[in-house]
Amino acid sequence: MNELNESFNRAEAHISDVVNKLLRQWSQVVHNPATRRLMFNIVEQSILDNLDFTRKSSKKNPGLNDEHTALNLCLLKTAERTLLDYEFSDSTLQGLLGILIRDQLVNKKTRKEKERAFMRVYGQAQPSFLMINPVQPVYSAEGGQKYACLDWPKLERVVAEAENLWGACLVLLVGDDLLLYRSQDKDLFDLAKKHPAVFFVLVVNGKDLTDETCARLKQCGNISPVLIINPPVESVDNRLAMQRLYGNAIPFGVLLITTRDFAENLLSTASIDFIFGAGHALYGLVSPVPLNGMPPEMNAIPGPPQRLWIWRRSQDLMRSQGILLIDFWNYGTLTGGCLAGGGCGYGGYFYINWKGDISPCVLMPYAAANLNQVFESGGCINDIWALPFFKSIRQWQKTQGKDNLLTPCLFWDHQADLNQILENESVYCMNEDFAPVLQGSSYRTFLDEYSRIFSSLVESTWKEYYQGGH
Ligand code: SF4
Repeated sequence: MNELNESFNRAEAHISDVVNKLLRQWSQVVHNPATRRLMFNIVEQSILDNLDFTRKSSKKNPGLNDEHTALNLCLLKTAERTLLDYEFSDSTLQGLLGILIRDQLVNKKTRKEKERAFMRVYGQAQPSFLMINPVQPVYSAEGGQKYACLDWPKLERVVAEAENLWGACLVLLVGDDLLLYRSQDKDLFDLAKKHPAVFFVLVVNGKDLTDETCARLKQCGNISPVLIINPPVESVDNRLAMQRLYGNAIPFGVLLITTRDFAENLLSTASIDFIFGAGHALYGLVSPVPLNGMPPEMNAIPGPPQRLWIWRRSQDLMRSQGILLIDFWNYGTLTGGCLAGGGCGYGGYFYINWKGDISPCVLMPYAAANLNQVFESGGCINDIWALPFFKSIRQWQKTQGKDNLLTPCLFWDHQADLNQILENESVYCMNEDFAPVLQGSSYRTFLDEYSRIFSSLVESTWKEYYQGGH
């Protein structure tokens, strides 16, 4: 592992140096095709040299090394496509290159400094990002729609603490109608402005992309909207929303909710060509359920063979076309396993909803505490990290959670282990209407059967390709 770390550090230092040079002289470098290609060639060679070194120095999990290289090359291709394709404003470039690429992906300087302090107290590395769903439509008895919002002081404070105590530079804002968040006269653009060193990924509906919204997104520079793509993919609404973002030079991703009925359609060649070609999207998030913290519906989840197909499809797109699709439950081989509950040293996160309930992961509807109560009783974000439920999850991640990184999910692939943790810890269901369903035997039987079939489908790939390198 030391050899591996050393080689990754060498590659990081090299890439960091190139990015810093780029940031100093970006306009000359980026606008000149020859220097731009030269720069990408240098970084590409560095990534390949690193793979060569790693293959020679370590025989452990060769498939994982190859896959990390494929991911780095895919990120590089995405960066090149982005710079070629978009006419960015200065604020967007600073946000993309300065925060996302240099600070978050390459230097990780702030994170490393905070890591030392965190390790001294807690004995392992801190989480790397937060996912927050700060607003929820509620239907009032009198009629009309209202919105329940996480209080601005709590929202702002949790982001500030993640930044100051963990060096976290990434916050994912998920849910429905995020642009309607209002608390104490503040909205989510105010949050981004207040934290210019944090990069925000914001899920949006195409219908909300007004001229004013696009102007504010552009002005901030540290927000990348993720457009929810509703089938049919080539609809006028999807087309117009993508045109609007691209026309305003706003770097954006897409959210593909690959439920049982829509997975093949959303990931078909025609859809991918449309989204990443004519649509100019830069990256995609893939999830089997909407990212709103609600318990998954059994008959909407892709079946085990379908899940395997989704994994193969995103691998193929990453390796052959340089298209980055980040799959929430199938990325264990790239993230080192499950990231729930803060993760066990390779990064990880918590999910917080509009009521302040804190759960280990957006796909796991159990909360261990409420943010409002934690703050009101004098606690901070580190006290959340230390809660016994999250600690048990991290312990599981360190021990059983790495047996097969193709089945990393504590909720979907290891329900029996999760149930054991739940029996011993104080947790509550984030949506009380669903508590009886989650605790019912049919849900648990379904998940047990699901995980048994899926693990038998991927076992040989794990052994032969990832562990054996064939
Ligand atoms: S519980 Fe599953 S979906 Fe959540 S972080 Fe872990 S692997 Fe990903």
